[in-house]
Amino acid sequence: MLTLDSEVQYIKGIGAKRAAAFLRLGVKTVYDLLTLFPAQYQDRTQCVPIRQIYGQTSCVFGRIGKFYERKLSRGLYILDIEIFDESSMAYARFFRQKSPYSKIDVFSTIKKSFQEGKFAYIYGEGKVEIGARFIAVNDYEAVDSPNSAASLFNKIIPVYPLTEGLSQKIVRNAVKEVLTLPSLNYFDISEIIPQFENLPKIDSLQALKKIHYPKDLDEAENARRSLAIQEFFVLETALELSRNETYKIPKRQKYEIFKTLLTPFKNKLPFEFTRAQKKAINEIFKDMQGIYQMNRLLMGDVGSGKTVAALSAALLAVENGFQAMIAAPTDILAQQHYFTISNMLDGLPVNIALATSQTLKNKKEREEILFGIENGRYQIVVGTHSLMQERVKFKNLTLIIVDEQQRFGVMQKYAAAGKGETPDILMMTATPIPRALAMTVYGEMDMTVIDELPKGRIPAQTFYTNENAAYNKTIKELKDGSQAYIVYPLIDESDKLALKSATAEAEKLSQSYFKDFKVGLLHGKMKAEEKRETMEKFKNKQYDVLISTTVIEVGIDVPNATVMIIQNAERFGLSALHQLRGRIGRGKKRSYCFLTGGAKGENSRRRLEIMTRSNNGFEIAEEDLKMRGPGELMGTVQHGFPEFKAGDIIKDADIIEFAKDAAKKLIETDPKLEAPQNQILKKLINLRFAQKVKLINVG
Ligand code: ADP
Ligand code: MG
Repeated sequence: MLTLDSEVQYIKGIGAKRAAAFLRLGVKTVYDLLTLFPAQYQDRTQCVPIRQIYGQTSCVFGRIGKFYERKLSRGLYILDIEIFDESSMAYARFFRQKSPYSKIDVFSTIKKSFQEGKFAYIYGEGKVEIGARFIAVNDYEAVDSPNSAASLFNKIIPVYPLTEGLSQKIVRNAVKEVLTLPSLNYFDISEIIPQFENLPKIDSLQALKKIHYPKDLDEAENARRSLAIQEFFVLETALELSRNETYKIPKRQKYEIFKTLLTPFKNKLPFEFTRAQKKAINEIFKDMQGIYQMNRLLMGDVGSGKTVAALSAALLAVENGFQAMIAAPTDILAQQHYFTISNMLDGLPVNIALATSQTLKNKKEREEILFGIENGRYQIVVGTHSLMQERVKFKNLTLIIVDEQQRFGVMQKYAAAGKGETPDILMMTATPIPRALAMTVYGEMDMTVIDELPKGRIPAQTFYTNENAAYNKTIKELKDGSQAYIVYPLIDESDKLALKSATAEAEKLSQSYFKDFKVGLLHGKMKAEEKRETMEKFKNKQYDVLISTTVIEVGIDVPNATVMIIQNAERFGLSALHQLRGRIGRGKKRSYCFLTGGAKGENSRRRLEIMTRSNNGFEIAEEDLKMRGPGELMGTVQHGFPEFKAGDIIKDADIIEFAKDAAKKLIETDPKLEAPQNQILKKLINLRFAQKVKLINVG
């Protein structure tokens, strides 16, 4: 007997070969097939008058007339059949391929069904050619009289995603086959979600039947929502389960808040922490003082001041005699952190190392750094992925801070975690995403949001304008003592031609518009040392203008730079634009961002419009999500995140919150999912998310 985890090759009509094709769609088991939901539907419930078919895919009904058959080119044959209704006449058009030597009539089945004087339902795309109407036939059913209802035809028909070796017919039949399996009753998980009190009771089997074969499109959407509730519930339960303390290992380190470093650090800062920063620091300290390893994500818009919050955590570790690591995605950013932190801690008894490919290159310097990290002389180690190398050994690392964590791969994060025994982990990101999405994407982590910018910040004003106007306005600001960035959209830094034109542009600009100013150039192909020097010069005001590629995208902090021109802004995505713009608006002076270039198409116009309207990273992320769809965003957020089958992370935000709450409650009452009534749920977690959400002991 087939069960949910049987392989699809045992389904009637599917053998090893088709099973291999199904596998390309990610369908391995009966369960996978059941949850291979239609990508769309053909609505054949309503027929339209033949007069109206032009330009749409629709259903018509009419009397069958004469046939016209001809050869188009070598081997391609066309059959046109007249179809009449009260409004007009169209040719139902069929194409068939035939070997020139073959004698078989490729249209014989069609001719048998279509008899002159009888009637037919036709579904297909309407076209008009030289005044005549055609329907490129997708499906049909012939009937005897004008009053005959079609037996199979007048339905909402599912359209499945396909791959080579599969047709709609094969998939439809296979789905129909499994929908009638007796073992399906096993799938009835309506009882597993008792917490959804204010939702109608969900009958999974019914919902599954209806999503594949709905009566109308409303029914399809309702079925989808029901299944989405289950899908999110199963995922959220899996996430809760993996977060549950039962599976956590108590950590070795204990921290006490001595304030021997924290107080002098706070007193030295030229500002007060914001309310949001205080809250974040409190949550982090509470985690660090807890029994289990911290696994927290600190999310805050660009410029919200995540660095000092993270540094506070590092100092707590150091106060207690431990080491802290701060990993940044680029050399430039690591260097910057190193310098800011060194400045902030100037005079305090803390030794800080910078471990990047640059500082580890020279043998003598490398040995000094590696030795110092290993014997504990360096208490705070700032670096890049170079830190994850095997040769970097810590004496007693207990805190790992990963800045701009979305830039790191999963493996790099694992490697970092391996540097300590039971390290506390703090991830930071400036790519805020909507709450519902965050709870799911980062479901395994606790989350702190810094939802407030330091006081006195004036948000940058953004304009979409031409280059001339942008340059002139920039010159005015430069004369007022400000500095400016000019950014070129070099998506691929190794693209020599594009790099050359950016360099040439820089040259041209420095000799024309900006000839009275000092202009620096920064791009990804430069040597690390050169990059560092250039950044340093810009920071020290030795350059007024920095012409750059997107290497300045993350984290760079030069408060006196208050102008940014983004060239060909239409080529950047919303999040990238917002990140770039986050480099300005960091001081007390009004900042300006000029977007130049030609908006091509609706989407790029909308992106630029949103940028000129909003400064709020969360709002921008939400718009970005709506425009690009969750897949792409998630791709940049985390690898290996499960794709949803029924669920839609944008449309179903309300459901996700529900599911999260329900899952929390369930895991509180049954932390290991051992209760008999939760076994089906456990099974579903395994079927669906076992590889994605690393679960321990669930089986
Ligand atoms: P991000 O969250 O983007 O990493 P940073 O940590 O780089 O932001 O902080 C941006 C700037 O704001 C830095 O110059 C930092 O010194 C400053 N800053 C941080 N917190 C405050 C605060 N509470 N008041 C004023 N300025 C602050
Ligand atoms: Mg930062």
